[in-house]
Amino acid sequence: MKSQAPVHTTCAYCGVGCGIRAIVTGDRQVTIAGDEDHPANFGRLCSKGTHLGETVGLEGRLLHPMIGDRQADWDEALDLVTGRMRECIERYGPDSVAFYVSGQLLTEDYYAANKLLKGFVGTANIDTNSRLCMASAVAAHNRAFGEDIVPCSYEDLDEADLILLVGSNTAWCHPVIWQRIEAAREARGSKIVVIDPRRTETAEQADLHVAVAPDGDVALFNALLHALHARGLVDLVPWDGLDCDPGVPADVFAELRDLVIAHPRMVTLFSMGANQSVAGTDKGNAIINLHAATGRYNQPGAGPFSMTGQPNAMGGREVGGLANTLACHLGFSEAERAHVAAFWKTDRLCAAPGLKAVDLFRAVHDGRVKFLWVMATNPAVSMPDAGFVREALARCETLVVSDVIADTDTAQLADVRLPALAWGEKDGTVTNSERRISRQRALFRAPGQARADWAIVADVARRLGYGDAFAWESSAAVFREYAAMTALTRRHGKVFDLTALSAMRDEDYEAMTPIQWGGRHPLVAPPRLVPVQPTASAADSNFPLRLNTGRYRDQWHTMTRTGLSHTLAQHRREPLLEIHPDDARTAGLVDGGLGRVVSAHGAAIFRVNVTNAQARSTAFVPMHWTDAMAGEGRANLLPGPLVDPVSGQPAFKNSAVRIEPVIPEWRAFLVSVGSRAPSGLLWWSRSRVKGGWLHEMAGIGAVDCDALLPSGHRLEVTDAVRGTRRIVVTGANGAVAAALFVTRSGQLPPRDWISGQLDGGDGAVAIELLAGRPATPAPDRGPVVCICHGVGTNAILAAIGAGAGSVGAVGNVTCAGTNCGSCRPAISRLIAEAMIMKEAAE
Ligand code: SF4
Repeated sequence: MKSQAPVHTTCAYCGVGCGIRAIVTGDRQVTIAGDEDHPANFGRLCSKGTHLGETVGLEGRLLHPMIGDRQADWDEALDLVTGRMRECIERYGPDSVAFYVSGQLLTEDYYAANKLLKGFVGTANIDTNSRLCMASAVAAHNRAFGEDIVPCSYEDLDEADLILLVGSNTAWCHPVIWQRIEAAREARGSKIVVIDPRRTETAEQADLHVAVAPDGDVALFNALLHALHARGLVDLVPWDGLDCDPGVPADVFAELRDLVIAHPRMVTLFSMGANQSVAGTDKGNAIINLHAATGRYNQPGAGPFSMTGQPNAMGGREVGGLANTLACHLGFSEAERAHVAAFWKTDRLCAAPGLKAVDLFRAVHDGRVKFLWVMATNPAVSMPDAGFVREALARCETLVVSDVIADTDTAQLADVRLPALAWGEKDGTVTNSERRISRQRALFRAPGQARADWAIVADVARRLGYGDAFAWESSAAVFREYAAMTALTRRHGKVFDLTALSAMRDEDYEAMTPIQWGGRHPLVAPPRLVPVQPTASAADSNFPLRLNTGRYRDQWHTMTRTGLSHTLAQHRREPLLEIHPDDARTAGLVDGGLGRVVSAHGAAIFRVNVTNAQARSTAFVPMHWTDAMAGEGRANLLPGPLVDPVSGQPAFKNSAVRIEPVIPEWRAFLVSVGSRAPSGLLWWSRSRVKGGWLHEMAGIGAVDCDALLPSGHRLEVTDAVRGTRRIVVTGANGAVAAALFVTRSGQLPPRDWISGQLDGGDGAVAIELLAGRPATPAPDRGPVVCICHGVGTNAILAAIGAGAGSVGAVGNVTCAGTNCGSCRPAISRLIAEAMIMKEAAE
């Protein structure tokens, strides 16, 4: 499928749903640019989207069906899958079977999986990893609007005078939306308020940062609504808990209140920080209440706006991928069930909602679910209480995993692995946060025996005897059926309606341009006020700190795709434990050292980053690292299985923990062409560099260099006094194969130049490598800020010192921030810090 013509497709990562123009330039090679005609991004892409081209290779791919460790053909693998499924249904009933699917699936895949399980197997035990991301927003929408409707659009961000960002590090997690918000600020002077316990890079750019306590959002929004009511600005019947302590300093609350009063054109954008909570649904309704009571919805520049995390989380919601929805926004009432059963022509339709994610893995653990099919997700790492979930997966009688990667932490436990299509091979649709449906298009031929998820599901359905209902020949045919099914939603008074797309010809589907269902403001009735009460977290003296988990700017989920990019790895090479200086001192932690975070459910080790950005008595760790990328660094071992009682969404953002120092006897790093997953160490993590890998390690006792290094010609220097050892291994052609640096008490050299030698670098000789620096030292870049142009902190600080006083001026001097723009907030922060230091010095 070699082509020079641009293919219009959609980014693989977040719910912004940016359009991409992809030009295939060779075998598994593609150049990526933002699609200027796509209404989600108008040509912008963040760092992750920009560097998608580095992730389309076949390294690590699952290319053939596998039964255990044995390669099988599709017939054998699917006969086995179907046989085990049928046996479970016959012996234990339909509820012994479950699917756990993903917002990475295309809508057509989701539709097929949902139809098979709910319509023909007869159980609603299908849930999606979107449960972890925005199930609370869905529940809040259902309570307030009577349907899961996002009531505004990205254009409202352009036209708002005030934007409240709640629990959203937008600059990192939805960077193109952040760029849109910044553009609005520049164009119309919009005010930005960030409501978040952390002083994130987004909060640093805001006009006001409201450092709310963990899970303090309901109190804050109730207090705001009460303040407006007390001034006669809204008409409502107050409820108990509305007049409450806002939980933030009085002057901060007054400033927020006055901004809200002064700016009726207000959008409140909320995200995982609000949703992933025991009070996630109530937070969503507290936000919607403020908009409902003030009439700030269904108008330009106004509305409550839930951002989705995954590229097709919204498509999954629409199809019915959540266990508590039947299909297409329909529930389980008798009339809805009757209509769905008639549409699917089935007499086996499930009777009641199924198990939500946390309960589903409990049921796998205790043997109620005996057959589990995981599609396109990695619950062994991404679920809370991940140790328990891994145990459940290991116990499951039959675990089937369809994925693109051969050995995810989950796939390693599978009885059967089925190779699925990856981004760049799939063909179908996704829906973004503003209800806009876009096409993902294939750029490459399917590699090996990989197949579309919907086609795999349809094959299993045929084997189970339901061939007539799954006789699609293309993704277009699946889409047409799904679009036709939305006629049922209108019969139940709902807004969701794609029937106009149900007669699409294949060529129309092929040429389809982005379509937003429901228009810009789809609400047809005023939202209901839902009285919600503030909650308080219980104190626990064994675990005195509150742990928050979240994302890094340049990584995605469990790094199975972004972890392939050496460019993206530059931003954060290790998972960091962010902690306030006072808490670090109390716990005996030092900046750059190691700390073990312990909860009632597990423990994990991280590099310590002492920072004032973290509020006292709280800590933050990223959720991306898996056992494949780090030893002891899995953040999701820490949160317990606590969920929001309405939505079932896990509470990742507020876990009780304690932190203790980890004191290794030696520290080391290894750069090598091949990757290592060393065993027997206290801690390690690895990241890609151009031409190989950089491993950071720490341990106790002797260092087993032989286990770490490849064979080849070795040069070594040892300093017994400081306990340092430096070994360089070269291959037959003299090229560097590996370099290991170990110390017991001294400093390790900077990694940047050394890791650059794997790719040929500047032709350093071994003696320079052993010294850890070139004969003519090059300036140290410092931490990399702009990954597109490889610009480090030191060059940016030098430009600022020389008079560059704006992000644009720094860009003119260094090029930093002039490509994707994801690093512009970081450059802004460096400028602000330099100004503060300059003023202090004067
Ligand atoms: Fe992809 Fe970035 Fe756009 Fe999200 S904001 S869809 S990750 S390019």
